[in-house]
Amino acid sequence: MNIEPAAPTRKNPPEQFAGDVWLDVIAVPHEGSQHMTVALVRFAPGARTAWHAHEKGQYLHVTQGVGRVGTRDGQVIEVHPGQTLYTPPGQEHWHGAAHGTFMEHIAMTENGDDAATTTTWLEHVTDDEFDGGVDGVRDVG
Ligand code: MN
Repeated sequence: MNIEPAAPTRKNPPEQFAGDVWLDVIAVPHEGSQHMTVALVRFAPGARTAWHAHEKGQYLHVTQGVGRVGTRDGQVIEVHPGQTLYTPPGQEHWHGAAHGTFMEHIAMTENGDDAATTTTWLEHVTDDEFDGGVDGVRDVG
């Protein structure tokens, strides 16, 4: 066994993230048979991912702040520390921090056979989409 080397915190790219979003890798595969990646992701207030989908789905465990998660049906859900969100394989979605607060989550993602194409990135989330359109944001916390 070993203590994993600590990788420096890195800023996520603006093509896929709007606002400041920082990534700390927690776990990556070592062997060819392993597919699990885990990362701690920190979003500045109002920062968010672009629309995207994960080939094998994704689990997000919120650890700090208030988060928002949206899907193509227009639903926007507010999520809180201690909650774990699951998005199934192929479902287009986004996640970010609510206005006025940071949000931190642990992202658990199973790679596909080609890790480079596990996540399909799409267009950025509009402010109207982020605020839930006419239905607003639903708090399930
Ligand atoms: Mn995701």
